[in-house]
Amino acid sequence: MSLQFNRRDFEYDVYTLVGAFYPGSRIKTWYEGEEAPEGEFAYYYSINYGQEQITFSMNGPGRSQFACCRLKDAGDRTETKNQLKRLVYRFLSEQTGKELPWGDLTGIRPTKIPMRLLEEGWSNVEIARHMKETYFTSNEKTALAIATANREKALLSQLDVEKGYSLYIGIPFCPSICLYCSFGSHPLKQWGHMMEPYLESLFRELAFISGRMSGRRLNTIYVGGGTPTTLEPPQLERLLSFVQEHFSFEHLKEFTVEAGRPDTITEEKLEVLRNHPVTRISINPQTMNQKTLDLIGRKHTVEETVETFHLARRMGFDNINMDLIVGLPGEGQEEVGATLKAVRELDPDSLTVHSLALKRATRLHLFKDQYEDISFENSEEIMRMTKECAMEMGMGPYYLYRQKNIAGNFENVGYAKVDKAGIYNILIMEEKQTIMAAGSGASTKFVFQQGTRIERVENVKDLKNYVERIDEMLERKRKGMELYGI
Ligand code: SF4
Repeated sequence: MSLQFNRRDFEYDVYTLVGAFYPGSRIKTWYEGEEAPEGEFAYYYSINYGQEQITFSMNGPGRSQFACCRLKDAGDRTETKNQLKRLVYRFLSEQTGKELPWGDLTGIRPTKIPMRLLEEGWSNVEIARHMKETYFTSNEKTALAIATANREKALLSQLDVEKGYSLYIGIPFCPSICLYCSFGSHPLKQWGHMMEPYLESLFRELAFISGRMSGRRLNTIYVGGGTPTTLEPPQLERLLSFVQEHFSFEHLKEFTVEAGRPDTITEEKLEVLRNHPVTRISINPQTMNQKTLDLIGRKHTVEETVETFHLARRMGFDNINMDLIVGLPGEGQEEVGATLKAVRELDPDSLTVHSLALKRATRLHLFKDQYEDISFENSEEIMRMTKECAMEMGMGPYYLYRQKNIAGNFENVGYAKVDKAGIYNILIMEEKQTIMAAGSGASTKFVFQQGTRIERVENVKDLKNYVERIDEMLERKRKGMELYGI
């Protein structure tokens, strides 16, 4: 379809909304005054907005339609955007007969809205009414967003978000690369020889951060990747000892190590984690169906997941998260049901349910033609099954986010039992606290005034470049900190 704008404002919101009503369709955007795109389109949409009103029109097979609304206050960008999205949503909803679960919300952090309103003193009922009237969110998603925001708020109140900070440490190696991976991880076989030089650079960056942040309180640490447990036990020991020696743990609320892939977890490595104040680990099955694991290139077995989980429990880990993905190739309700049954038997402390996102930089996207015969299914029913499973295990939602190209326009939800939520996950999503990040591809986020201003300093993604240009990475951080007055 063709989507024409008269000016460059809010195009991405409208584009995303149209895409949500027509998943998988090719949408060509262009601007008034430009040459029309070549080719035939099923629908021609046109958006026109000025100082007084917005119009949205459509020319399609055998019919034309038009809708407009008067702008309440053209100087108020948020209000203008909301009015524009409401107009487009109503129009497309009527045209397609569809309602979207998240209404006209196109951003990736739907809880930010209820969170802000809670902070302003609104009641849950008032927020629910506002969300449904303003964004057309369904009853179910409205309840999910508000419940999550309330829990986030309670958890964040334990931290000094202004004066504290969090630390992210990236280990960008994996035993094999999953078909859907968009993290830019490196397979051990080809890149294992870079582990030592990588650690050397990482230690330099961590030492730099500890020196610069010594006057602030460290609240959470997250070691992610990649797969941190690709490190050999002595390497893991060195890393965790280095962190303990260089940072004060006096105000630390949480120390997560994402063990991740069961095929990298051994008793010796878990022993190393036990010898340090690691409070939370992740053992991620993604699915408990072997056929799917083989298809998505995870190269581990269902049995390995079960055995590793039991091993970790025996060794005393009392906060274990499990990540699942729904919408994986070839998986429908039956397969997801089997995974949930197996997970329920293990009874983890938290469960993170991701909806598969078909991102461009993944092998799944590159070779998608090969998977034409395989269905990619996600549905309200599947999302409900995951929610019910989490609730049966005594968990409630504590963070959620959406992604572009997510299967079925759904969301990713983190569920946790009481006192087992991953606080770092909330900090990442709500952008309330500064996160210092070390490692290739790591993005440091300086957060000011409760998230009303955010500045980023990025490290290079490429592993070799990170190692060779570590001085430049430190300089980038130093300059950023000076510029932003950290
Ligand atoms: S385990 Fe995670 S980071 Fe590693 S390849 Fe798979 S998706 Fe990517």
